Amino acid sequence: QTETFPDGRPRKTLVILGSGWGSVSLLKSLDTTLYNVIVISPRNYFLFTPFLPSTPVGTVDLKSIVEPMRSIVRRSQGEVKYVEAEATDIDPITKEIKIEENHGEIKTSLKYDYLVVAVGSQPTTFGIPGVKEHSSFLKEVSDAKKIREKILENLELASNLSEDDPKRKRLLSFVVVGGGPTGVEFAAELKDYVDQDLTKWMPKLSKEIRVTLVEGTPNILGSFDKKLIKYAEDTFNEEHIDLQLRTRVKSVNCENVQALNPNGELIDIPYGVLVWATGNAPREVTKNLMSKLEEQTSRRGLLIDEKLRLLGAENSIYAIGDCTFYPGLFPTAQVAHQEAEYLSRVFKKLNKIDQLEWQVQKTKANENITEKDTKTLDKNIDKLPTKIENFKYNHLGALAYIGAEKAVADLSMFGTSKQYLTGSFTFLFYKSAYLAMCLSFRNRILVTLDWAKVYFFGRDSSV
Ligand code: FAD
Ligand code: NAD
Repeated sequence: QTETFPDGRPRKTLVILGSGWGSVSLLKSLDTTLYNVIVISPRNYFLFTPFLPSTPVGTVDLKSIVEPMRSIVRRSQGEVKYVEAEATDIDPITKEIKIEENHGEIKTSLKYDYLVVAVGSQPTTFGIPGVKEHSSFLKEVSDAKKIREKILENLELASNLSEDDPKRKRLLSFVVVGGGPTGVEFAAELKDYVDQDLTKWMPKLSKEIRVTLVEGTPNILGSFDKKLIKYAEDTFNEEHIDLQLRTRVKSVNCENVQALNPNGELIDIPYGVLVWATGNAPREVTKNLMSKLEEQTSRRGLLIDEKLRLLGAENSIYAIGDCTFYPGLFPTAQVAHQEAEYLSRVFKKLNKIDQLEWQVQKTKANENITEKDTKTLDKNIDKLPTKIENFKYNHLGALAYIGAEKAVADLSMFGTSKQYLTGSFTFLFYKSAYLAMCLSFRNRILVTLDWAKVYFFGRDSSV
């Protein structure tokens, strides 16, 4: 892409940080011919997170839910440069970003005119001792692989031990901490795997497996409607998933999770596989940026205004998705996607404003222009920025898989009235809704084939 437009106007540089829901949705809707677009992310693929809980047990293959950035970038309207690197420092004054390629081996920097921060978040441990060392998160491809390997390893180790060996019982104790949608969906997938596949491959061993979900508050799926929460909890009880509610984990060692139970007693929950899903925290680059701007007073994420502009750097930095904190907007793919689509419209308008300002400058430079003409031009320019409307989130609802081919759905009908759905029909709805959300045709086909494979042959039990 050339540095200037045909009328001589310089093409502005738009840098997008991240390759997740926010960034990729923006790339898909943005007219990339209008800017020099540079995407920076250490992860060279997009990950379709809604099916991530299905991957450690093999319901869906990891390769089916990733899409290479090179292929996404290639499909853009204009030329887009992708750099596999991590942004480490953003200077909102000089408009410069420091980046590190190849795990810090190459350090460079680049300038931007506009920056979109969409770096997501990292799993939170709340500083609880032992969590980082002993548990697996469920956020990235590497996490899902690690959980899968651990499950398969434990099954093999346990099968070599005698039935009365206490180590066997511990190896077969699968514990999930955090009863939000991630923890619930993973516990559900795990129990499906045990009940639908392991019963065939390892009938004796499968009966000894215990799936436990530990949640600090009185209910799982706290953000859902009460009716749906009850349905999900009843389903978990029917499926013999051990629900430990009002039980807050205080520390973790190599064999046990130590938690405060509802009676205020410190109890040990032995585990063989431990998955930690207690929500999100800001990344280092986000915290670094916050520390540079006095307007950034929240520890939960980047504060933005109603036009998604970063407080303290409103003229050049936008932030979307999980790295932000804005009351009423939750850290979901749905929010990141809608914010990205809004920003694509904003950048179209900003380009239009830039184009008009350039024309005005050129016209003013013309010696024959009258004072009246200059005033009219200035008036038109003054009016333009106010034409950018505020971001409006349209909540379409929430869905969660709860196991045994059942799902719960909290849907907003026509913006106001609510519709609550449960059961197997909702599971089909869940599958088709998420399939429609899969970004590429290739991913849709691959996920459908994975489901068909599981239906006919069961889940793949090899690494
Ligand atoms: P992400 O999608 O996390 O993307 C962040 C990107 O930034 C990544 O590419 C990352 O590599 C990159 N990055 C990180 N650090 C840097 C850096 N320093 N410099 C440059 N790039 C960087 N939401 C739903 O609405 N429905 C669901 O069903 C659902 N299921 C989920 C299941 C799981 C298991 C998880 C973990 C989340 C789920 N979510 C779901 C939430 C959803 O995935 C997030 O809200 C969404 O990914 C946020 O998009 P984002 O672009 O802000 O961040
Ligand atoms: P979350 O923040 O939604 O839930 C974390 C849970 O962990 C909470 O219920 C909390 O009470 C519990 N917890 C925290 N500390 C604890 C402790 N010490 N001991 C026991 N329990 C503890 O986190 P999540 O489930 O990872 O979800 C993150 C975001 O991603 C949310 O916005 C969610 O809506 C979204 N998401 C959506 C879906 C979906 O729509 N199907 C699926 C996964 C994630």
